[in-house]
Amino acid sequence: MNCADHCAGMSARLDGEPAAEPGSGVDEGVALERLEAHLAACADCGDWLAAALRLKVLARGAAVPSKVWTEQLVARLSGSVEAESPVRSDHLSDRHAVS
Ligand SMILES: [Zn+2]
Repeated sequence: MNCADHCAGMSARLDGEPAAEPGSGVDEGVALERLEAHLAACADCGDWLAAALRLKVLARGAAVPSKVWTEQLVARLSGSVEAESPVRSDHLSDRHAVS
């Protein structure tokens, strides 16, 4: 399995199709585990998936893969995701300090 294979599996999953190739004899659960293991080790595919997920979110209304699966992946790639949505806690802590 190389990056192109993994991207194909992730793309299929994003489209709501099984990550396992039909007829390949690969169990869907095993296919997902392989995808996640590769994503954890491959920054290129992580970037690719993050971009693909962003497109998917922009194209809201389209069929999305299992929400839990997507959220777990996003959590694993959370470095960049969190950096883009800063939490403004300074305001809240100011309030608490005035007691
Ligand atoms: Zn890769």
